[in-house]
Amino acid sequence: MKCDPALFRPAQPALAVKPRLIRQLLLPPLIILLMIGLGVAGFLISEGNGIRTLSETGERQLELHARTVESEISKYTYLPSLLELEDSVSSLLTRSDDAHRQAVNEYLEGLNRRSRSRAIFVLDTSGRVQATSNWRDADSFLGEDLSFRAYFQDAVRGEPGRFYGIGSTTGEAGYFLAHGLEEHGKIIGVAVIKVRLDTLEERWQRARLEAFVSDENGIIILSSDPARRLKSVRPLTPQTKERLARSLQYYWWPLNELQPLARETLADGVEKLTFPANSETDKGRHHEVAYLAQTRRLADTPWHFTLLTPLQDLRREAMVQGVLAGVAFALLAILLIAWNERRKVLATRLAAREALQEANSQLERKIAERTADLRASNDRLKGQIRERRHAEQTLRHAQDELVQAGKLAAIGQMSTSIAHELNQPLAALRTLSGNTVRFLERGALETASTNLRTMNALIDRMGRITASLRSFARRGDDRGQASLAKAVEASLQVLGSRIASCHLQLHSQFDDPQLAIDQTRLEQILVNLIGNALDAMATQPQPALWLEGEAQGDKYRLRVRDNGHGIDVETRKHLFEPFFTTKPGEHGLGLGLTLSASLAAAAKGTLNVEHPAAGGTAFVLALPLAARPPSDADERP
Ligand code: ADP
Repeated sequence: MKCDPALFRPAQPALAVKPRLIRQLLLPPLIILLMIGLGVAGFLISEGNGIRTLSETGERQLELHARTVESEISKYTYLPSLLELEDSVSSLLTRSDDAHRQAVNEYLEGLNRRSRSRAIFVLDTSGRVQATSNWRDADSFLGEDLSFRAYFQDAVRGEPGRFYGIGSTTGEAGYFLAHGLEEHGKIIGVAVIKVRLDTLEERWQRARLEAFVSDENGIIILSSDPARRLKSVRPLTPQTKERLARSLQYYWWPLNELQPLARETLADGVEKLTFPANSETDKGRHHEVAYLAQTRRLADTPWHFTLLTPLQDLRREAMVQGVLAGVAFALLAILLIAWNERRKVLATRLAAREALQEANSQLERKIAERTADLRASNDRLKGQIRERRHAEQTLRHAQDELVQAGKLAAIGQMSTSIAHELNQPLAALRTLSGNTVRFLERGALETASTNLRTMNALIDRMGRITASLRSFARRGDDRGQASLAKAVEASLQVLGSRIASCHLQLHSQFDDPQLAIDQTRLEQILVNLIGNALDAMATQPQPALWLEGEAQGDKYRLRVRDNGHGIDVETRKHLFEPFFTTKPGEHGLGLGLTLSASLAAAAKGTLNVEHPAAGGTAFVLALPLAARPPSDADERP
């Protein structure tokens, strides 16, 4: 099956390929860009969510640990005020004698031991240490002037003195809580307790907690990481720095600023800080560590507690999620591309199938049209065949009629000769019968019987003549077989009287083949041919007729030649035309040759004329040889 190529007309290549090529070239970088974008977005969203969750849990942690710090500090706040109740202390401060000093020293020593504080000491209003728990130690505060200390200055004014500093004598850091001791509404001295908050730091380290506490100056006083200790969380002005240096609060520490690599404020008290890596665990692995820093003010103090939550794990997770988002997008993109390609392939297939169906239906339509045409022309042909058959039948019928007419005409023609032929024996019979009667009357029986035998012979001859005429007049058919010898004999018999009257010389030289033609028809043809020859030789003093036969292939040729006047050139043209005759008056009908040729043709034979150089005319009758010898059924009476 051939498809109409017009149905598969391809798109213009220059127009179709270009955008497609551009699309294909642009698609991969676009997908990669989108993948990276989605990955980054995934990372940022995941990190943001993680920070939010972390800050929520961090909030609780912050609260918990800040409270711990608060309780650790507040646990000592009441202690200095307790010394107000102690009489020996007020006696020492009012009188300042050594006996009282010793008593207070011992009291303070015991109190310090029980409260697990670092030191407890009492100052007079000038800021000089009057008694101290560490009176036994070499670096005892006793007699030391601490008036420059801020906690003293606050306490002596009646305000609570809170102070984190490094001891000027011991160089040891500690938290100083000072309380102005009153007597009768007047400040007589200041009680100070120094506590160490190292336990907090140790506790944080044990819990792997990263946290620090910064004081009112923004200096980190407590830190889980020692490296951050005594650094300022905010920039200090040179004036502040100088003031702090002079107060010796932090001894001679340089108070450098704790400078993060990056700082991002997320909310009030919530920051994202990135520090350079410095702890042992981080070394060699990361160059920087990011923290979520949550800060809260500690109650009753101007201090702030800051909790640092590392963002490393969160970042790793966010990174994984970002990569996952990118990969998921890439997968989705690949799936979409594959789906699109599949859709295109299906669409192409569908279009091809539709085109094929269309071509098929067109073909079927054409076939149907052609079939209809063929059927119509077939019907026409059938009609024509019917008409031809009908015409053929009519023709054959007409031919039969013509043959019959020809025969009857021949009979008519021959009627004179027939009458003559029959009259002669009749006259002879009449004479013979008269004579026989007379011979019988005379008793000449011998002569009478001879006469009767002659009469018998004459009657036989007459019977033969009428029989041959009857057979000639009978209608024949196309099938059947004929004996040539019998036909020649019958023809000569029909024409017997004419032959006898002209003293014809007959030269017969033929076999007796069985020919595929009706016997009567063959006789009819021969009567015509021999009759014509006799006519042509009417004026010939020595008429001669040659009947020569020979087999040629599947046919048998019989040549009927006479030595008559021959046929002139003009006549030759019209020889086989019906009703063409050169014979005068009633002699010729012009049907003989026509009918003979028709009969020969009907038997698939031919009839031709030759004009021998020696003169006269020769008719050649060629007829097919019969396939089988005649059976009794074929014999006709
Ligand atoms: P018809 O015998 O009635 O004239 P035919 O068809 O038999 O009709 O013959 C047609 C003509 O052919 C004859 O009139 C005659 O001129 C010519 N013809 C036929 N046979 C011969 C022959 N053997 N010799 C010369 N002329 C012939």
